[in-house]
Amino acid sequence: THFGYKEVPTAEKAKHVAEVFHSVAGKYDLMNDLMSLGIHRFWKHFTIMNSGVRRGATVLDIAGGTGDLTRQFSKLVGDTGKVVLADINASMLNVGRDRLTDDGIVGNIEYVQANAEALPFPDNSFNCITIAFGLRNVTDKDKALASMFRVLKPGGQLMVLEFSKPAEWMAPIYDAYSFKILPQLGKIFTGDEDSYRYLAESIRMHPDQETLKQMMTDVGFERCEYHNMTAGIVSLHRGYKF
Ligand code: SAM
Repeated sequence: THFGYKEVPTAEKAKHVAEVFHSVAGKYDLMNDLMSLGIHRFWKHFTIMNSGVRRGATVLDIAGGTGDLTRQFSKLVGDTGKVVLADINASMLNVGRDRLTDDGIVGNIEYVQANAEALPFPDNSFNCITIAFGLRNVTDKDKALASMFRVLKPGGQLMVLEFSKPAEWMAPIYDAYSFKILPQLGKIFTGDEDSYRYLAESIRMHPDQETLKQMMTDVGFERCEYHNMTAGIVSLHRGYKF
């Protein structure tokens, strides 16, 4: 692999990811707020603000889950635009669709059950593609990035919002939080310690800022750059297709 760690066998990882998200789907939003102390809202807001998405645009929100980004994009693109919320997991997709529909956010959203590694869309379909806290769950990340590149329109941009490598001063605090406190919170609020242990492990295994930037460049993205947030706990990567 790219980053010198041992990947779990492919089928095993995919199955595990499926189990984790089936198990947490109902409480996913609550846990997000709780575990990030609400800060994930800021990370997502920053992503939307820098997306350059306008009225009439076509947006793909991959691994869109319960639809936080799709909700905002739906307002931005208006009735002349379109947002496709794609997720591999039917439980997450259903929770997302129900929440948005209940809130009256309808009309310009399509829900598609799809694997990021093999996106079921024609070449050059979208002005903007986002994947928020999703890429680290994908087994073959290079394949997924290449698939995103294919379906992006020339001139369009990909935005990857993901946990990354924290600054040195933050690392010990962050490790203590994610390996000790986080699984305990998971246990208390969902009765599911293992899913949240998986979360901490998947974050640690994920490629760091420079590695992900290089992976994006390798599949064809240009002008790749990233912006660290919250001392590098999270980074927003961006790359264009020309
Ligand atoms: N984007 C949402 C957010 O920021 O709140 C949801 C993020 S959630 C942590 C990760 C999502 O990735 C889950 O809904 C999961 O089903 C989805 N996922 C995992 N592997 C995937 C894959 N290979 N293709 C598409 N989605 C995937």
